[in-house]
Amino acid sequence: MRYSNLAKIYEELASTTKRLEKTEILSKFLHTIDDKNVIYLLLGNIYPEHEDKKIGISEQLVIKAISKSTGVSSEKVVQEWKKIGDLGEVAKALIKSKKQHTLSSHVLTTEKILDNLRKLPELEGKGTVDKKLSLITELLTSAEPTESKYIVRTLLEDLRIGIQQSTIRDAIAKAFFNTKESNVAIQKALDKSNDLGHVFEISKKGKLENLEKVSLEVGKPVKVMLAQKASDIPEGFEEVGKPCAIEYKYDGFRLVINKDKDKITLYTRRLENVTRQFPEAIEYVNKYVKGNSFILDSEAVGFDKETKKYMPFQAISQRIKRKYEIEKMKNELPIEINVFDILYYNGKSLLDEPFEKRTKLLKQIIKSTPYKIIPAKQIITDNLEKAEKFYKQALENNQEGVMMKNLNSPYNPGSRVGHMLKIKPSEKDFDLVIIGAEYGTGKRSGWLSSFDLGCGSGNGFLEVGKVSTGVKEKREEGVSYDEITKLLKPLIISEDGRNIKVRPKIVVTITYQEIQKSPKYSSGFALRFPRFTALRPDRNTEDIASLEDIENAYEKQGGK
Ligand code: ATP
Repeated sequence: MRYSNLAKIYEELASTTKRLEKTEILSKFLHTIDDKNVIYLLLGNIYPEHEDKKIGISEQLVIKAISKSTGVSSEKVVQEWKKIGDLGEVAKALIKSKKQHTLSSHVLTTEKILDNLRKLPELEGKGTVDKKLSLITELLTSAEPTESKYIVRTLLEDLRIGIQQSTIRDAIAKAFFNTKESNVAIQKALDKSNDLGHVFEISKKGKLENLEKVSLEVGKPVKVMLAQKASDIPEGFEEVGKPCAIEYKYDGFRLVINKDKDKITLYTRRLENVTRQFPEAIEYVNKYVKGNSFILDSEAVGFDKETKKYMPFQAISQRIKRKYEIEKMKNELPIEINVFDILYYNGKSLLDEPFEKRTKLLKQIIKSTPYKIIPAKQIITDNLEKAEKFYKQALENNQEGVMMKNLNSPYNPGSRVGHMLKIKPSEKDFDLVIIGAEYGTGKRSGWLSSFDLGCGSGNGFLEVGKVSTGVKEKREEGVSYDEITKLLKPLIISEDGRNIKVRPKIVVTITYQEIQKSPKYSSGFALRFPRFTALRPDRNTEDIASLEDIENAYEKQGGK
């Protein structure tokens, strides 16, 4: 397909904020697509979601490429960028003025775009930067102004056309089925495959039953099932029924373990492949879990190697991103894997089997080995006293609380379900994303020392206040200003004196004492006494608290 056709659709989609109109534009466009790869581009990606490959290009490199392809100096590009605030628009303007003097060369196709972009994450070693630069420059040199805008935005993984996976899902439903059930069927196929292009290809044939056949594939990441909240054990019983399973809610990170004969792959809930980071997990699975092929859902928790006490998530969080000194980290920050569900076993999907059966199977196939791998601590009961006692015990063991699970329920990938509930003593924390920051002064100068927090909304992120407490000056004491500054610097979009705005990528956990109404922030709310408690490299911006979550928590505290 000509890339200009796609660029035209991007423009149309960006021109309206109404979701229904977007769906309409997309559903017409979908009929003209033969190649599923165009679907990935529509989402601003180059691969399906399950492929853990990111373009990973810095603004600096894009600035160089714009400069090279237009003959305008890098300084001038930066100047324009500061003025306009969007490198895509900068490319468009500069290429437009260049095109008035020269004849355009090649016609760009979506195939050519993908061909070049897909080489970017593969490049390694000497001369990488130059090779990347020439792949990008080649595209920009051939691009029409509007095309260049979207090439740049795709490179920077920020398309800004207000399209989410769910918008395309609705458009697929409208284009090829136009029934209510089809939305659900498409979503289910998507949650299992994490490949919207694949789901599009199947849907194009117009047969719902083909979508229902989409199944789990061992080795490919799957979206995990998420829980709703209950305020206490009696409410939990009411919601999930009696008897139910009650388990420790471990305070670690979600780890999905895939085994396909000899090959073991580990994924986070963001579908990131972390197999290399946790060699001991592979050893434990090989040694202590029976079966040829399976998908296990678990929580990996850190514990102190001397005292054997469980440690909060923050202690082991560094291991998730770590690419070097893995053996050292393994010895210093050991993990225990607590398996709480199984989605697939020896060639068969277990998604629709009742939880009771799945949890029984876990106990049969795992040789429980404390401080290595165990089935999650669990009781099955209808007795309030026993349940409360178990909850207390979980807290004494340094865990966050308990999960209550209905015994007959299926495993619904990607859904937040009411048949699995979490219960914690204090709900006073939110996962939020850093959207801006301010440079410190005095002994904190050179560091970003105050961070603007954003919550999710249907349309971008809304501010809910600032945090600075909880971050440390010295690295040994926890997450430091220096560490966060290093994470945020490559994400800077604009600067204004000591204040900066950043691309919303860094998710953090914030505790607070109270929520207040506040006209000062775009969400209309502010957190009182916010305190930083953890970086969440295992979370996406899709996982953060939404405005609705904040409104609900505000209502719950009695509107005070
Ligand atoms: P929270 O911020 O409260 O931990 P969350 O955003 O992590 O919530 P939820 O699905 O709402 O995610 O809460 C369940 C999470 O708890 C799971 O994602 C999982 O990582 C963790 N967990 C710990 N122990 C268990 C368990 N026994 N069963 C299910 N999930 C568990």
